[in-house]
Amino acid sequence: MSSMLNVRISRKAKVSTYPFTDYFEGFERVDIVRKIFGEKTGEILSNLKIEFIGRRGYMGVSNEDGHLIVSARYLKDGDIIDIYLDVIHELVHVKQFIEGEELFDRNYRYVERPTEIEAFQYAVEEARNLGLSDERICNYLKTEWMSDEDLTRLAKALNVTCEVSLS
Ligand SMILES: [Zn+2]
Repeated sequence: MSSMLNVRISRKAKVSTYPFTDYFEGFERVDIVRKIFGEKTGEILSNLKIEFIGRRGYMGVSNEDGHLIVSARYLKDGDIIDIYLDVIHELVHVKQFIEGEELFDRNYRYVERPTEIEAFQYAVEEARNLGLSDERICNYLKTEWMSDEDLTRLAKALNVTCEVSLS
């Protein structure tokens, strides 16, 4: 015990999670989602949990138990198409986690990591299903922390034509 402190801190915090399907309805009927999970689509989505975080950011998948982590701010203020495509992207990571793949292999740069390329491939396929132009898809792919060089590399890997102004 730290007798220097005159306070008591409960250190067993429970991470609050919610059913994915409380917030994201109908994904089990989307063709691309069925392509990701196959026959197990309904079962996996009904067991999937999401955790909301108050920080800035987008979405991710926990590498401890494979639940989805979503920025509450992004969910509220983000572009709805971007959010939809991010869900598709993250569901691919959920599948990868279930299959025991290493999601955050540091031997690869983000834009070259096989798990990321696979996730982006599904998102881009769905973006094309929605009829989005390459310009719009590039806009989706670009994040503020991605350099033009990385965007070019990623776009090339995904066969998306991006007009990047390299200065
Ligand atoms: Zn990813």
